[in-house]
Amino acid sequence: MSFCCFKCGSQNPDESNFCMQCGVTFAGYPDRGIGEVRRTSELAIAALVCGIVGLPFILPIASIPGIILGIMAIRQIKRNPSLDGRTMAVVGLICSIVSMAMIALLALFFLCLPLLTKA
Ligand SMILES: [Zn+2]
Repeated sequence: MSFCCFKCGSQNPDESNFCMQCGVTFAGYPDRGIGEVRRTSELAIAALVCGIVGLPFILPIASIPGIILGIMAIRQIKRNPSLDGRTMAVVGLICSIVSMAMIALLALFFLCLPLLTKA
């Protein structure tokens, strides 16, 4: 029986008090014996919030941190499989990219508008 380190995701024997891989202490983590301790990535939550808030007509600037946080969260979850929130991170990232694309299209439209009306 082993459990995943909450920090680096490596397997450790039940009786260990610190991670053999990264050396983090398990003191104060009573769940450790259960096996898989799943924690939602804060980065993923932040990415999802930015993705939603960043939708056009709310706060488009939030889609920039949304993309960055989404990528960071996906990479973090890949490194640490015991972390939850991959779906959140992906949804946040996609929302942010779509928002950015819509903003870019709107900007392009308004930039081209004078040219179109002149013709
Ligand atoms: Zn570790």
